[in-house]
Amino acid sequence: PQKPFQTKLVLLGEAAVGKSSVVLRFVQNDFQENKEPTIGAAFLTQKCRLEDRLIKFEIWDTAGQERFHSLAPMYYRNAQASAVIYDVTKASSFEKAKSWVKELQRQANPNIVIALVGNKIDLLKEASSSSNANAETEEEDDDETATTTPEATGDSLRAVPKDEAEAYAKEAGLLFFETSAKTGEGVVEVFTEIAKKIPID
Ligand code: GDP
Ligand code: MG
Repeated sequence: PQKPFQTKLVLLGEAAVGKSSVVLRFVQNDFQENKEPTIGAAFLTQKCRLEDRLIKFEIWDTAGQERFHSLAPMYYRNAQASAVIYDVTKASSFEKAKSWVKELQRQANPNIVIALVGNKIDLLKEASSSSNANAETEEEDDDETATTTPEATGDSLRAVPKDEAEAYAKEAGLLFFETSAKTGEGVVEVFTEIAKKIPID
């Protein structure tokens, strides 16, 4: 039997992006519509078994302090991992995510594994998995109603383009995912990929 490797993971992101919901999905495979905001400090644990290791995540959720950006550095001090979450339908939440990433990269453990997570993709009615599907055939004119309008891709609620977020994540050295806590899409992958990146020795 393998001894689990304890890993502190902190959740960051604007209020209401779905931090608590993503964790609830990961830990209990559950989702609550109109979830009550977290009261008090929330601390959950979940194991993640990989071929060569067993990681026991200690997941620190905020109790709403993120509304005031008043999270003490002790919240993320000694964290080996962080999931910085935004809402794909809300541009301001992506800006907020970037500012949390900056803060982590300046103040947290230099080896921290950071995952950038665009949540609530169930709200998008994606016509196809490729957002560039129409770009190839787009004509080079100044017709503003080109085929790449969000409406044309069925993606009318998306406020943060996937390729933009992905490019930012790559440049900043982050893992990148899009998820839905509601359907569960992509959620396990976030934690599994983080687990793979945790230096254990
Ligand atoms: P937190 O403040 O970041 O912890 O956000 P919550 O987890 O409390 O979620 C805020 C609201 O968004 C709640 O009403 C959730 O039910 C809802 N929510 C969270 N994740 C998703 C998602 O993936 N899809 C949809 N449609 N709603 C979500
Ligand atoms: Mg919460």
